[in-house]
Amino acid sequence: MSIFKPETKKQTGNEPAQAAVAAVLDAAILKRQAEQQKRDYLGASRWGETCERRLRYEYEHTPEDEGSGFSPEVLRIFDMGHDGEARMADYIRKAGFDLLTEKSDGHQFGFRAADGRLGGHIDGIIAGGPTITGVEYPLLWENKALNDRSWNDTKNKGVKASKPVYYAQMQVYCAYLDIPSGGMFTALNRDTGEVLVELVPFDALAAQEASDRAVRVIDASSPSDLSRIGKDRTDFRCKFCSFKGPCWGDVSTQAQPSQAIKATKPFWLK
Ligand code: SF4
Repeated sequence: MSIFKPETKKQTGNEPAQAAVAAVLDAAILKRQAEQQKRDYLGASRWGETCERRLRYEYEHTPEDEGSGFSPEVLRIFDMGHDGEARMADYIRKAGFDLLTEKSDGHQFGFRAADGRLGGHIDGIIAGGPTITGVEYPLLWENKALNDRSWNDTKNKGVKASKPVYYAQMQVYCAYLDIPSGGMFTALNRDTGEVLVELVPFDALAAQEASDRAVRVIDASSPSDLSRIGKDRTDFRCKFCSFKGPCWGDVSTQAQPSQAIKATKPFWLK
């Protein structure tokens, strides 16, 4: 007889109270999200999204399909990414790079265009640093925190192929903030602690394409003026879109709970 029996978790009687606390935490983060001030511009972080109609829904703040929207877990993953940015900035500075993340007035670097309807804020600019062959300053700095699968995909394929939305975002920032030497993409692997560094050259064509797309989106008179990326609502590119209802003309259709849960996780967190 084995003396190593698998531990089974003992019931303590506290389970209902624990579940109630977790529910309060979930409700609080969802409330914070609902109260967050909505952008009055189309942010450059989204210009690489290839469905122009979806961008227009986002720009207009069209209500998302019932049951979609980010779950508390996903919102916390976003928070981890934001929190990790300051830590990564610290690593970079300690390595001798002159990383600027805010202006003298404490605001982030960024830009606005088209009467304020387009805009964006960058993670930072690396103004200088160690002399390393192949590294030219200044560099736009873009940082992400990724799970192991996503991190490895980015490492293997490169930012352009693996994360085209981030790639477009970097190109747009380089163009609008006049950084012709390109950018440095860093990604922290949330599971292993590894850091991925990729030097991303400036790609004027990609910047122009993304910028043209953004202008089409804000100048359209309604989402239906813009093309859909999917052939129908079951198209794989629509899977994680929260606007299937208005897009495919069935606003009154109730989303099934099981579909709704799946739709809460964006592709880059899978
Ligand atoms: S459902 Fe598909 S086609 Fe419609 S807005 Fe969303 S991604 Fe675009």
